[in-house]
Amino acid sequence: MKITIIGTGYVGLVSGTCFAEWGNTVVCVDKNLEKIAQLKQGKLPIYEPGLEELVVSNHSAGRLSFTTDLIGAMKGAGMIFIAVGTPPRTGHGDADLSFVYLAAKEIAQSLEDDAIVVVKSTVPVGTGDVVEKIISSVRPTGSFSVASNPEFLREGSAITDFRHPDRVVIGVEDARAKEAMTTLYSPLAKYETPVVVTRRRASELIKYASNAFLATKVTFINELADLCEQVGTNVIELALGVGLDHRIGKSFLNAGPGYGGSCFPKDTLALLRTAQDHGVSLRIVEETVAANEARKRRMALKVIDAVGGDVDGKTISVLGLTFKPDTDDMRDAPSVPLIETLQRFGAKIRAYDPVGSKNAAQLLENVELFDDPYECARDADAVVVITEWDVICRLDLIRLKESMRFPVLVDLRNAFSVENAEAAGFQIWSVGRPAPRQAVPGARSLPVTFDAAPGYLGLATAAPLLCAAPEFG
Ligand code: NAD
Repeated sequence: MKITIIGTGYVGLVSGTCFAEWGNTVVCVDKNLEKIAQLKQGKLPIYEPGLEELVVSNHSAGRLSFTTDLIGAMKGAGMIFIAVGTPPRTGHGDADLSFVYLAAKEIAQSLEDDAIVVVKSTVPVGTGDVVEKIISSVRPTGSFSVASNPEFLREGSAITDFRHPDRVVIGVEDARAKEAMTTLYSPLAKYETPVVVTRRRASELIKYASNAFLATKVTFINELADLCEQVGTNVIELALGVGLDHRIGKSFLNAGPGYGGSCFPKDTLALLRTAQDHGVSLRIVEETVAANEARKRRMALKVIDAVGGDVDGKTISVLGLTFKPDTDDMRDAPSVPLIETLQRFGAKIRAYDPVGSKNAAQLLENVELFDDPYECARDADAVVVITEWDVICRLDLIRLKESMRFPVLVDLRNAFSVENAEAAGFQIWSVGRPAPRQAVPGARSLPVTFDAAPGYLGLATAAPLLCAAPEFG
């Protein structure tokens, strides 16, 4: 099968490369000249573990190519995937579908008969209908189908997620599209991957409902973490005890500074907008969005508490800037509002991220960026862990502490064990775990002591959850 992918971003590039790996001939199209030029030279415009090798091998095998020439890329294509961005419309919250609609118009000009247009971008319910109308208006007598095939991959583990998904969702309105789509995904049959074939509108809504549910789960554990802090218990043990119930599940129960990234924030807002347009109130999702927004800034107050109640003139070193580990994506990263809030209170910010500094530099002002975490921590009044990159979780805490002015560690990902941090001489503040035994003078929160016996079930089994696999999509 010859496949054309419109939009060579995180989703388009990964999907195109994996389709090529399955033996299809794939042409990835993008309007961004620099991106395509880089890809033609075998260089990746994004950071995604394992992707470069696959791109290079499929490109060398002649199955994967890159172009800005849409008309040429459409020749002989039986399937055309739309994988362009659907960012939130500024000031509105609903998905900006202009890229999708423009792509549909452009595709319509050179669509061959019987081709299937597949919307892979995350789009509100009914978008497939509009795409079909756009194409029909250009090709009133043309024979084509429009299908929906939302993507569930997570940045940072995108290749594995694409090749071993929990399920594939396909939304179709005719048997021909159903046959073509199920054939395309037939390489997954050997893993017995469930393929949900449904109507187009249901497929579109499944994607939003999934992301809204996961965002709610994250927000739920975050709020429980706040309660854990007040009652002197540990959210990691709580999450373990709750998550082992298979009706609930362990994933997405890592408490932190609030969800971010290119999907959850925009998709929850877009779902709310769809619901409003249809006179439906999704109160749980509304509360999730509000609680998450408030949380990101409230994390700054935790840092201020940790340094004694006033951050003015103090140096805060931030470790990890991207919205999660193993990606360079800074879209809606919680680090940004947190840093901006600390800056408003007068803090001087130094920051380190193993991969995201280039993208972060475009979003953050007056932040000194470092290539080395220990250098970043030099003379700091506190170190704040925002993203649990492996390299950050493995830092030598004694060495880190040595260069700091005060040994205060605000661990917003529970990346370090309290015992290890305290043994290294740190006062550690984390999320949903007890506050330090010795509070910094002037701190507002009451320190809560927590003594668990060694070998205590929760602590013993909770350890592997530290620095757990990244989860946000
Ligand atoms: P992205 O911004 O990384 O990539 C989109 C690409 O499309 C850009 O390179 C842009 O230049 C290109 N583009 C836009 N209009 C074009 C056109 N008319 N012709 C050719 N190229 C065009 O976006 P992304 O993160 O890959 O997301 C794409 C879609 O997939 C979104 O709807 C997103 O919500 C969804 N999604 C993303 C993820 C994720 O983890 N990033 C996961 C699941 C679903």
